[in-house]
Amino acid sequence: MVDLVTQYHRIKEEVDRAVLDIMNQASFINGPSVKQFKSNLEKYLGNNAKVIPCANGTDALQIAMMGLGLKPGDEVITPAFTYAATAEVIALLGLVPKFVDVDEQTFNIDYTQIESVITPKTKAIVPVHLFGQCAHMDPIMDIAQKYNLHVIEDVAQALGAEYYFSDGSCKKAGTIGHVAGTSFFPSKNLGCYGDGGAMITTDDALAEKLAMIANHGQTSLYYHDIVGVNSRLDSIQAAILDIKLRHLDEYVIRRRNAADFYDKAFEDCEQLIIPYRAPYSNHVFHQYTLTLNGVDREGMKEYLNSKEIPVKVYYPVPLHLQKAYNLNGYKRGDFPVSERLAETVISLPMHTELDETQLEYITEHVINYCNQSN
Ligand SMILES: *Cc1c(COP(=O)(O)O)cnc(C)c1O
Repeated sequence: MVDLVTQYHRIKEEVDRAVLDIMNQASFINGPSVKQFKSNLEKYLGNNAKVIPCANGTDALQIAMMGLGLKPGDEVITPAFTYAATAEVIALLGLVPKFVDVDEQTFNIDYTQIESVITPKTKAIVPVHLFGQCAHMDPIMDIAQKYNLHVIEDVAQALGAEYYFSDGSCKKAGTIGHVAGTSFFPSKNLGCYGDGGAMITTDDALAEKLAMIANHGQTSLYYHDIVGVNSRLDSIQAAILDIKLRHLDEYVIRRRNAADFYDKAFEDCEQLIIPYRAPYSNHVFHQYTLTLNGVDREGMKEYLNSKEIPVKVYYPVPLHLQKAYNLNGYKRGDFPVSERLAETVISLPMHTELDETQLEYITEHVINYCNQSN
């Protein structure tokens, strides 16, 4: 699905030097590379965003919710079709996840259904920019303002994506809501060589609080004002991320080129619905996800795997049907679009190193399978 080895070899000299430097200085925690990466990511994101690095994307979402002062029993709205981490941290903090169905075309939260689940207990909305395309933030921010709700963007799959507001302005994903959590897991669009994550916010006071929570709630060394956690991005990962950040826009272009190739190959095939590209966001293609129309997904998976083409299903079970998050007595049929997508989506290899030969090989076999099962 990804080719991190080839990608590494293209920046090997730079990365090896940076990592060896840290080994030689033994500045493994909070070394200069952490501050440098933080500052460079802030510049990249623009909009006066502050970046607070932490240990992984799941922590980032959890600390963001802690920083907003959400209390047990508070309700948090999030899409039913996403990676489990989003709901996991909600449940972990004693908050109540309230799911909303997603839009069939974008796979993102269907903003028209948000208002119907708002209650006096609702405190926040967590839109997820799934597969690399922004959720429709304009109306989501309007709803949040109307009901005085916090917006926590899950930008783990969409770092580098941009959202175009109806007034013509443009912001990078992660700088639109009140706070965002992102992940630097190796396979993400900006990935390190281990675990890593960050919070993003344009609120300076919140940024300070988030940094404090991530560092045991310390105001100064050994003075703990609030209960925090221990969540750090280590110096080696920060150094690697700082190098890869300089290539992020180029990585996005490579992903988009691969997506264009796939689109072109599949656009006339009735059994395949290619990913919709919303006019209000660019797409950074964390995943290239097809929706199958009358194709046996298991059969296709087996066929492609037999041709040594990896494919994956993100995600086979929507959150309201997961045992751990079925907290409100949700049942099958509650979120029909999420349920249908869970049964019909399939993601093809998507990364920065796909070349034309590989893309031709993959698309040929996908089309072959559709034709032979016709
Ligand atoms: C990867 C991911 C996370 C969690 O990130 P980790 O660094 O693995 O903890 C959260 N939300 C979404 C949508 C993700 O894709």
